[in-house]
Amino acid sequence: MESETGDLTFKGLGVCEELLAACENLGWKVPSKIQAQSIPHALEGRDIIGLAETGSGKTGAFAIPILQALLECKGQPEAFFACVLSPTRELAIQICEQFQALGSGIGLRCISIVGGVDMNAQAISLGKRPHVLVATPGRLVDHLKSTKGFSLRTLKYLVLDEADRLLNMDFEKEIDEILNNIPKERKTYLYSATMTKKVGKLQRACLKNPVKVEASSKYSTVDTLKQQYRLVPAKYKDAYLVYILTEMTGSTSMVFTRTCESTRLLSLILRNLGLKAIPISGQMSQPKRLGALNKFKAGECNILICTDVASRGLDIPSVDMVINYNIPSNSKDYIHRVGRTARAGRTGIAISLVDQYEVEWYLQIEKLIGKKLPEYAAEEEEVLLLLERVSEAKRISQMKIKETAGKRRRSGGDDDDEEDRHLASLKKSAKSKRR
Ligand code: AMP
Repeated sequence: MESETGDLTFKGLGVCEELLAACENLGWKVPSKIQAQSIPHALEGRDIIGLAETGSGKTGAFAIPILQALLECKGQPEAFFACVLSPTRELAIQICEQFQALGSGIGLRCISIVGGVDMNAQAISLGKRPHVLVATPGRLVDHLKSTKGFSLRTLKYLVLDEADRLLNMDFEKEIDEILNNIPKERKTYLYSATMTKKVGKLQRACLKNPVKVEASSKYSTVDTLKQQYRLVPAKYKDAYLVYILTEMTGSTSMVFTRTCESTRLLSLILRNLGLKAIPISGQMSQPKRLGALNKFKAGECNILICTDVASRGLDIPSVDMVINYNIPSNSKDYIHRVGRTARAGRTGIAISLVDQYEVEWYLQIEKLIGKKLPEYAAEEEEVLLLLERVSEAKRISQMKIKETAGKRRRSGGDDDDEEDRHLASLKKSAKSKRR
């Protein structure tokens, strides 16, 4: 956690005793930069636009003032006091956990309302009238339309986390619907690591004379992050990936790909080669996504293969390396991806594997971050020694995917254990064929 906040304390920012105790319980000794900059304004009742990197402590920056306002409510604290919107389910769940952790000593009721979970069970939780709701927009709109007795008419605080993404990813209709169903008299906070022009549009729609706080220069990456690139022919990319991961054995890595399909294929290839990889993508069911994330967090698997769904907001504290297996076409995604490493003052490495089709996108990234990156040094001859094994693993994995596609469609999900068993039997039969 960044702590370039001088001698500032949470107390000095105006945080109340109950929440000071909560921060202490969580081990938050001093406020992070974004907290130091936004909490005093928020406590004064201002609307806020916060620009802060992933891992900067922005959840605390909006949660603390909301909880303090809730505590200051005379009499019975109100239900549906605050609503936080997040573009992804995982991030929503994480934000909810932070609220619960901060609010455990003050009887806070906070729930997450995300897709992929039974609507009826959620309707029952809504019936218990939580103080804080952390939601993905689509599911919230579903409840606003169909859950009897549920409304956000008492809402005092609205937070849009990853605000630029909420506006970029076709959420606009849902956001408009939500804005039409909440009071105009409220506080609004927008938080994001990057901001699009569209935010200006939303600002006109619902912010009142907001204070803009910024914890970092707009598109900078942290100094403790070592960034490199390597131009590789597309056909050798898998071999390069395996080479890098083997060179860094034992470290925790996230590998970013463009499609959900390739997360699955790559993790099968890597597992086939004895590496502990696990995929996470928007195509997986919610329990599978959480399961994968937990396995990664617990260290059971040290390589997470993901799409950009996983690149934002997720609180994974100790990633040593980010590999861009595919270069993102939207340069800002690069910032979010590499923001998964070198967090909280640690060092980290980010390596981009650029093939012949991605050079343009890569150059855009260099322009955005304002520097030319050094090349990742590796002898191609050495990398190519892996080619045969990697190609074989790929062939087996592709065959497996093809064979299980029908089965997965019928059962409506994948089964990692079953996949492992299947892979082992395929490997065995491939071996005996070679003999
Ligand atoms: P966030 O950027 O909100 O996702 O927070 C990233 C991580 O930093 C979370 O694990 C928080 O628990 C932690 N954190 C937030 N504020 C502080 C603080 N002031 N001191 C130490 N850790 C913090």
